[in-house]
Amino acid sequence: MNKYRDYDNYLKEYPDADGCFGKYGGNYLEDPELIKAFNEYAEAYNTIAQSAQFINELRRIRRDFQGRPTPVYHCQNLSNLLGRTQIYLKREDLNHTGAHKLNHCMGEGLLAKYMGKKKLIAETGAGQHGVALATAAAYFGMECDIYMGEVDIAKQAPNVTRMKMLGANVVPVSFGLKTLKEAVDAAFMAYSKEYKDAIYCIGTAAGPHPFPLMVRDFQFCVGAEARDQFVEMTGHLPDQVIACVGGGSNSIGMFTPFLADPVELVGVEPLGRGEKIGDNAATITYGKEGVMHGFNSIMLADENGDPAPVYSNASGLDYPSVGPEHAMLHDMGRISYVTVGDEEAIEALFLLSRNEGIIPAIESSHALAHAIRIARSGITGSVLVNLSGRGDKDLDFVAEHYGYGPDFLEKRGVKSGR
Ligand SMILES: *Cc1c(COP(=O)(O)O)cnc(C)c1O
Repeated sequence: MNKYRDYDNYLKEYPDADGCFGKYGGNYLEDPELIKAFNEYAEAYNTIAQSAQFINELRRIRRDFQGRPTPVYHCQNLSNLLGRTQIYLKREDLNHTGAHKLNHCMGEGLLAKYMGKKKLIAETGAGQHGVALATAAAYFGMECDIYMGEVDIAKQAPNVTRMKMLGANVVPVSFGLKTLKEAVDAAFMAYSKEYKDAIYCIGTAAGPHPFPLMVRDFQFCVGAEARDQFVEMTGHLPDQVIACVGGGSNSIGMFTPFLADPVELVGVEPLGRGEKIGDNAATITYGKEGVMHGFNSIMLADENGDPAPVYSNASGLDYPSVGPEHAMLHDMGRISYVTVGDEEAIEALFLLSRNEGIIPAIESSHALAHAIRIARSGITGSVLVNLSGRGDKDLDFVAEHYGYGPDFLEKRGVKSGR
């Protein structure tokens, strides 16, 4: 009768011992040194992360350093403007450093400490993951090497400065297209040589086992807090929970605690400029099964089966694959995936800024835009949106390309509220 009951034992069943979510996930790395390193990592995580000492220390970090729990907020102005749907936000923008990414970086840093490692290694594209990891490294007193394409270093000057100020070593990557893909390759290469002293920290719920599992577990607090807070505020569960999907970390953390509840779960992928390959990064919507970066999932491929070029105005969402757990939950039909394009996301950003005094990240604005669609359709009920990050990093880009709101909203025929 109740399909949600199928998920009562979900966390015990997925992933399996090999890190597979059904046919997705696993470890498809070829370098034997890297396979050894990831196996050691998975073993350490399975034992250390169960210890009461580890869990208590992580709880303390979340409360005292990160400022958790972050609140759930009822957007009354925006809800009233749009119709009868009540829109609520989980305020990950108020997490220290301004986004959800620090949740898994602090967990990874703490694990590194318990494993006796001295250095954190990662790649970064726009710099958000690099900044979060550099923050964790400063907290734990560790070295930190962040691999970054030279093209991205030139484009993301403020985040490069932040990483350096936090004491991280930004390593320029100068081969190939000099962007994220090459930065990943360079970071993997460094890790295979340094894994005795260092750990590698992927920035999302993707990559070889144990990352999809580990990042989901470290992000679980987002949904668990939000579920309790929402019930406490309203006396019931939300009708829908919505989150944006890049690699899938903020969304999987938000959704997992609701899997066995009668709640609709919706992941929002970036449609960018449109449906053509190269114009978006809507992996689940337009991709197919394939292996890249050492794990099996759904990916956007070109005609040779290589990762396709991707585009979105939200740099945190433009990844040509997606966490393997999302691929499985999509196939199972438990989570539905929709798309939102560049301009619809910006409309949401302006509406939230003007009507609630909260400037969201462009990534998070994609999730909010779907909630706005629902509200405009006139249905009653409530939706809970994971506001994964704040918009400070996007201000100059938005002002330059889209202005400050009024003209943009008027051109789209949207009632701006104020
Ligand atoms: C990186 C980022 C995302 C996308 O990453 P996921 O792993 O899919 O969560 C979303 N929102 C913000 C604010 C980000 O910085």
